Amino acid sequence: MRPTVETHSTSDESRRFLFENADIRGEIVSLDASFKDILAIHQYAPGVTRLLGEFLAAAVLLSSNLKFEGKLVLQARSDGQVPLLMVECNHELQVRGIARGVEQATSGSNEALLRNGQLTITVDPLKGQRYQGIIALQTGTLADNLGAYFNQSEQLRSRIWLAADGQRAAGLLLQQLPRQITEDINLRCEQWESASTSTDAVSAPILLSLPGAALLRRLYPRDPVRLFDSTRVQFHCSCSRQRCQNALSCLDPSEANQLLKEQGCITVDCEFCNAQYRFLRNDLSSVFGWNTTKTLH
Ligand SMILES: [Zn+2]
Repeated sequence: MRPTVETHSTSDESRRFLFENADIRGEIVSLDASFKDILAIHQYAPGVTRLLGEFLAAAVLLSSNLKFEGKLVLQARSDGQVPLLMVECNHELQVRGIARGVEQATSGSNEALLRNGQLTITVDPLKGQRYQGIIALQTGTLADNLGAYFNQSEQLRSRIWLAADGQRAAGLLLQQLPRQITEDINLRCEQWESASTSTDAVSAPILLSLPGAALLRRLYPRDPVRLFDSTRVQFHCSCSRQRCQNALSCLDPSEANQLLKEQGCITVDCEFCNAQYRFLRNDLSSVFGWNTTKTLH
């Protein structure tokens, strides 16, 4: 890794930073075009848009620490106005997300949107064991809920700050590193509290508008902080014809046969990107073990 000078790079990026004099690392993420691409697919009320943006920024922050190929999924279910919200980010920082059943969601408050909510974090490596953690979405922000979860399960403290409006989403993560620079435990605590309190001063508009280096200078004017190269974040849907075909193999063959008789084809829509996949009888003969030369009844 090599430190960089300040540049006006893209607005869809994730950047790691390190405190030079404390065992604390950080990550800043900003989403612009990638967020707008997702918002262009479905129309959401402002409260849902903000929530979706915060979830996307959180997923990128948490994925930036992944040390393997795979994806991280955040899925919230609730009795509130947002029954289901799901976002994904993979190791290449490709994101997608959707809020489902939110036609009546008019509120701006998390309490109304995610009442009795439960958040599942799934870390899904391409090779190896899947890991899941479950968080009750208590009153408060998503950032608070995630922070409480990480601090109960990890020795090294972590905190997250999130913001989103109708255009952009952003987030910042602070995480304690194992003892290396600061041996003294009290000083370690002080340094953590100081960085954490300084970051509390950041308002949503500032988090959303200031580019990386300027944001860090504003938040930690007295602390030397090293900012690393950015990694691009982009919207990308992982759906494919093959995946849809695999999903169709779960259909009852007679049901598939009936659908083909009635409609001439079976279509599968991807709700994340609105792509539509059409399958004719010949496309599915191998899936259902149909002999295409025979007539099916
Ligand atoms: Zn798709």
